[in-house]
This record gives sequence, C-alpha cells and structure tokens, in this order.
Amino acid sequence: MNLNDLFAVAALRAPDKVALEFRAGDALQTWTYRDLFARAEAIAAGLQERGVRQGDRVAFFLSNRPEFVVTYLALLRLGAILVPLNLRYRRVEIAHILTDCAPVLIVSEAAEVDVLADAGVGTALPIPVLTVEEMDGWEKGSGCAGAARVAADDLAMILYTSGTTGRSKGAMITHNNVMATVTGLLAAWGWQADDRLLLVLPLFHTHGLVVGLHCALAAGATVLLRVKFENGRTLTELQSGAATLFFGVPTIYVRLVEELQALPAVDLSSMRLFCSGSAPLSVETFDAFARLTGHTILERYGMTETGMNLSNPYAGLRIAGSVGTPLPGVSMRIVDGEGRDVPVGQEGELLVSGSNVFAGYWNAPDKTAASFCYDAQGVRWFMTGDLARQDPATGAVTLLGRRHELIISGGFNIYPREIEELLMGYPGITEAAVIGMPHSRWGEVPVAYLVCHTPVDDGELAAYCRANLASFKVPALFCRVDALPRNAMGKLQKHLLARPGS
Ligand code: AMP
Repeated sequence: MNLNDLFAVAALRAPDKVALEFRAGDALQTWTYRDLFARAEAIAAGLQERGVRQGDRVAFFLSNRPEFVVTYLALLRLGAILVPLNLRYRRVEIAHILTDCAPVLIVSEAAEVDVLADAGVGTALPIPVLTVEEMDGWEKGSGCAGAARVAADDLAMILYTSGTTGRSKGAMITHNNVMATVTGLLAAWGWQADDRLLLVLPLFHTHGLVVGLHCALAAGATVLLRVKFENGRTLTELQSGAATLFFGVPTIYVRLVEELQALPAVDLSSMRLFCSGSAPLSVETFDAFARLTGHTILERYGMTETGMNLSNPYAGLRIAGSVGTPLPGVSMRIVDGEGRDVPVGQEGELLVSGSNVFAGYWNAPDKTAASFCYDAQGVRWFMTGDLARQDPATGAVTLLGRRHELIISGGFNIYPREIEELLMGYPGITEAAVIGMPHSRWGEVPVAYLVCHTPVDDGELAAYCRANLASFKVPALFCRVDALPRNAMGKLQKHLLARPGS
C-alpha cells in the first residue's frame, strides 16, 4: 500500500465531494476529489514528458495554493519525491538544499523566480524551473502517465530540517511513515468525512503537509486552504461556521487570544477541535483560549523526522503544558545520558520508535547513525533531542526543553550555528554566538553576541543577514562583547551569556 492507494479510497467513495476550497483575497476556487485527481493525472503526464521519473526529487518553492496539492499528487502518481522548501528561505538555505538533494526540477511560481535566481538557480545550479503559471494550459493528454508501482518503503518526500551543524538535513520520509502518522491521527482525533479543516499553516512543513493535508484527504474531508494565518480574517472564518477543525502553532493561538479578548462574544460552535503543536503552548494561552471560547486546545508533539508522536486525548482530559501519550503505533522511552531508561517521573531524553519514524537523513549516513540507538531486542529508537518527563499517575508527557540549543520563533526552528557561521563570514567579526531571547509574540527570537576586530555597522550586518537567511532567523539584536565565555576545553558556554533585558 502507498499514499496513492490511501487517497484513492476517499476519491472513489465520494468523487463529487469538495476536497479543496482555496480562498486568496476575494478569489474562491473549489476542487472536488474528481477535479483534484484528474488535474493531478494531467500534471503527472506533463511532468513525465519533461523527464520526471520514479525516484527523482522535485523541489517545490511554492506558497499555499491548489497547485501545490495537485502537483504533489502528480509526484505521488509518478513515484517521484517531493522536496518542499520553506518559502522564506534565501540564498544560503536554498543553495544548500538544492545542492544536497539534486532535484531534476523545481516547481515554483512567477513571483518567486527571482529569489531562486538569486540563490544561483539557472547559473551555478542548472536546475530547470517550472512555474505553476506555465502549467495552466496543461490538459489531460492521451499520453497520460500510468501510476508507478510504488512500494510502502519508497520515499514520498524529503523534508529538510535544520541540523545542529547549522546545515539543514534532509529527513527521508517513506510512504509508510506518512501512512503511519495519518492512520494514527485519523483514529486518535476522530476524523470524519464531513470534517472541514481550516488550514493556514504552510504546506512546506510537516505540520501543514502531513498532519493537515494528508489526514484531510485520507479521511475524504475538505481542506479550506488559505495562504497563511491572518489577523482578524482567520477568526472571522472560524466564526463563520465553515470549519470543524483548526491546526495552529502557539504563536497563532496567542494572536487569536489577543483578538478574542477585544470581542464582546464569540460563536465557535461549528468547531469540534483546535490543535496546537510545533512549539510549547503556554498554560496561560491554553487557559485564556478555554475561557474565551469554551474550547480546550488539544496539544500534540511531533517532528519532521517522525511525524506525530504523542497527543493529548480527543475524548478525555487535555492537560495544559502536556503533550499527552503516544499515538497508536508509536512507542516511547525516556532515557538518561547513558541511554538507560529513567524511572517514570524523572526527566531524560525522549526516544521514539514506530512505523512513523523516518528512514534516515539523505546523503548523511553518519548523521543517521548518530540519531538512532538500538535496544537489547534490536529495536531501533530515534533520539529526538527533546527532554521530557512522564507523569507517573496519568502517563502524560511534559516536554522540558531541547537537548541542543534550538530556538523556536513563531513555530519555526532556528539552529544558532547556521546564523553563527554566516556572521563569522562577515568582515570584521571574529566570533559569534546566537541564543534565543524570550519574546511575547514569537516565543523566542535570536540574539547574536559578537566579538569584532574592526567596527561593524548593525544596519549593514542586518541587511547581509536578510539577504542570506529567512527573515525569522535574522538576529533581533547584535550585542558586542570582548570575549565569549568558554570552558577549559574551549567549548562555548552559552548559558553564561547574559540574556538582553534580564
Ligand atoms: P519540526 O521538526 O519543525 O516539526 O520541530 C520539531 C521540534 O519541535 C520537536 O523536536 C520539539 O522540540 C518541538 N515541538 C513540537 N511540538 C511541540 C510541543 N507540542 N511542545 C513543545 N515542543 C514541541
């Protein structure tokens, strides 16, 4: 079985049901399951004519739009591998990913081709770019591609996640990995064909793509796809009664709470479930949302490499500050620094195992080997790098922070090393250290500590960062220090850096 088979069930059962409704500004498009799969077939034929074959990587540099969905379905049909790029990525990140995964084609949109050219696409990186505008005229042709024979262990996608080395790693996700997460969530969250998911999260990330889009299509439900979360507009839509489900990151819930506080009354009675993930949801936000709407947010925990791991219950008590218990098919352990299980109630690193866990990192056997361990029975466990504790009474897990120094800003991961390496390449900078500073809106923002040997202008440095990095990775502050704190072994001791404002 593969993802084509999974989606075919819904498409066969109710072909005339609306699968996708896309609203951008005042423009509205609706796609039935029949429309979606017919269009995917036509695009598959067009891609095949342009040389895309089974096992090829195809990168997407696309905003949330129906073409993302249909072109992805076309890739599945061809057995090609999706590599979605974060649309906020710029030169350094784009060039790294494209060089690493060597796609045969980049699918993008007219508005983004300059960004790709700036990253070297068409010059240093001779990869053809196809825009969705160019695909507009593609009709379902006679030379239509037959569906490839795709095995459950074949790759469906490579999702790039930032690495501790500062360079993002490509997590190889098989059809089976996605199906494990999807089938687990269909059961755990009670997905129904009459569900309507308001999807404002980016499709280039596992949260929007796997948890949102895949579950909805597998359930035969309707995706109300939006370009992004918008102040005011998203809440208006939630109040309109159009949706039954909403997935957000904590930053979105913080903004919703701000808006709700300014309203006299709110009617969210069409909604059956609000979920949160990708970063810790504060107890304050959980409580405020419950007070203002009558809905308790269901918090869950997942990762690019593993899909969904743990979740609060759909039916039952959702505990603020907890990510719940393992989803169906997922096993977990909490271990100490030596890899021994800690007594329940004590903290340690969370390990997960199950069909949801990815195959390894693309082109990086050493990093793959370093991310897994094996128990006495030979079971392979993924070391998440997240610290956690399990409540002895309820079994619910609380995440305590990250083993490494990941910064999460507005639901996006930022690995300090990537920024540090860029800063250290700037004239005048000798050393750089980046840490997270608490921020009321974004959760955290990066702050850079610099040791400079010649004067450096903050404005020019910020412009350099903006040209090379996604905006959310650009340091909010540049602090000058005479030296960085290091231990006897010369290792940087970031906890000794004073947090600005503290
Ligand atoms: P990503 O690969 O972008 O999905 O990021 C995965 C990381 O996000 C995890 O390893 C966690 O550190 C963090 N994360 C995901 N969900 C939660 C959550 N509910 N609470 C706290 N951290 C979370």
